[in-house]
This record gives sequence, structure tokens and C-alpha cells, in this order.
Amino acid sequence: MVKKKSDSSGEIAKSHFVRCRYCGQKNNVRDDYKNNDANCGKCKLPLSNEPHKKFADLTKHEYIHPADSKALAALRAIPGIDTALRKFLAVTFEAAMRVNFMASAVKITPKQYPDLHAKLQVACTTLGVDMPDFFLQQNPLVNAFTFGMERHVIVLHSALIERLNDEETLAVIAHEVGHIHAEHVLYLTAARIFELLTRVSLSMIPGGELAKFILNTTIASALLAWARRAELSCDRAALLVVQDPYVVGKTMMKLAGGTFASKMDYEQFLEQGREFQKHCDENQLDNFWANIINAGQTHPFPIWRVAEILRWVDSGQYGELMKK
Ligand SMILES: [Zn+2]
Ligand SMILES: [Zn+2]
Repeated sequence: MVKKKSDSSGEIAKSHFVRCRYCGQKNNVRDDYKNNDANCGKCKLPLSNEPHKKFADLTKHEYIHPADSKALAALRAIPGIDTALRKFLAVTFEAAMRVNFMASAVKITPKQYPDLHAKLQVACTTLGVDMPDFFLQQNPLVNAFTFGMERHVIVLHSALIERLNDEETLAVIAHEVGHIHAEHVLYLTAARIFELLTRVSLSMIPGGELAKFILNTTIASALLAWARRAELSCDRAALLVVQDPYVVGKTMMKLAGGTFASKMDYEQFLEQGREFQKHCDENQLDNFWANIINAGQTHPFPIWRVAEILRWVDSGQYGELMKK
């Protein structure tokens, strides 16, 4: 449909509708508009006539990182682990965490931060996941996380949306939705709680004997080793949603180097990633992770993650999935 309206110079500019490739919203644009010149009024993502793939029946086995499945299999081989973790989370923190976010963070809905809500919808429809609860919390630490067994909850820190542009924000939301799609949430919630608990005494933890079972070193180290590797699978899920490796790489670059990413050289950053991977074998990485966890960080190594995601693209697996 063609409409006419006046532009600032008073001349009549012709306009037409472009349907947002991400969320499906109809947007009115000028006829001389080019791809990515304007953003969608609903999800705020760049408008273009490029297609956007939605996966009808994606299974986690189609994109999961081998290091993730290997570490998860080792974790699941511990007798009674699933039941123990479920009980532990039920008696300890799930309810408390949920109340905490209800009380201290802003719940994102179609009327509250509608563009973030629309981005979550884009990620969920692309991967085929039910909408979780979604919160934005004031926090200067650039981070996002997912928890909750009874009902999944995704939390974004305010610093994250202040630093990232709309496409990069979608990449982070899609990474979190990936944790749900890849069935990580039980173990992820446990890992997160474990990280918090390393800083308090065992006697303060509700759940008594159960807590001691969960917090024994075998389980804890299996859990934490897995949690780092799970990130790699979800970076792949993020790529399946944003459908542009450059956006995922640039998001990592900002996570590594802060907001001044416009002054950073992306090619140099990729080179740094390749260097890192060359010098770090698996064992060294495990030691490194231990140090990082002790320093209280949950999503380490943007450099390494970007090298991993590019390796996946180079392997051809990403391209195969996009053609499916
Ligand atoms: Zn849109
Ligand atoms: Zn993650």
C-alpha cells in the first residue's frame, strides 16, 4: 500500500509498508528507505527485506556443543543427581529468588519495556520455546541469567541494555532462551546457587543433609565445569536467532571491551580469539575457569566464545541448519 505524507522540507514523500522480518509488525517507511535504515516500531530491530528463519522443530541435539553434552553426561552419571538437585532447589532458593525479582526488579510485559518483550517473543518463536517470565533489574554488572524449574525466569541487568544496541540485546536474550531450549535450567540454577553459596557457611544453608550432598566437591566441580561449557551451546542458539555471526561477535567484543566498541577493530579481536584458542588446551581452560569462578564471574571468556562460534560457522553446521 502506498501512502503520502509531508517530510520536514514540506515536500510530499511517498511511503510504503515493510513487515518486520523479526516480529511481523507492519511499519510505514519512506519509499527511498534502504535495508537497515529504519527500525521496527515494535521490537526496535533494524527493518529489512531479508528473510528471517523461524525453526519449526529444532532439537537441542542439532546445535549443542560437544563439550556441553560430554560434561552434562558426566554430571548426569552421578547417582540421584536430578532428584537431589530438584529437591534442593525446591527447599532452598527458587521461591526466594522469584520473590526477590518480583519485589526488586521491573517485570517486562507488552506494556512495560514493550520492545524488550517483543525481542523475547522473537527469540522464543524462532527457537520454539514457551515465553518465560522476564525481568529487568538495576545492576551495573553487565549480565543476564535464567533460572526456575517451576516456571522459567530470565533476568537482564540494566547495564546490559545500556551498553548494547537492539540486535546485540536480542543476541543476549536469545542466548538465555537457548538455556531453556537446551534444557539447561535445572543445572544452571544449581550452579548459580552454588556460586552464591561458596561465599556463605554451610550451616546457614537450608536443606541440611541435602545441601551437603549437593555441595560435595565431586558434584560441585562437575556442575561448574559443565556450566562454562553450556555457554557455548547457547551462543549457538543466539546465532540461530540473530542469524548474523557478526552481531554475535560484536556482542562478545562489547562484553569484553566495554561500550567503546566502535573504536575497536573487529578483525583484531577475532585474531585475539584465534591466538587464545591456540595457546589454551582443555586442562588450562579448566584451571582458568576455577580462577574466574573464584573471582565471582559467571560468563567468562568472550574472546574464547567468539572463536568457538566462528569455528561452528566455519564447520558448515550453522549453514546446514539455516537451510533446513
Ligand atoms: Zn519488529
Ligand atoms: Zn548463559
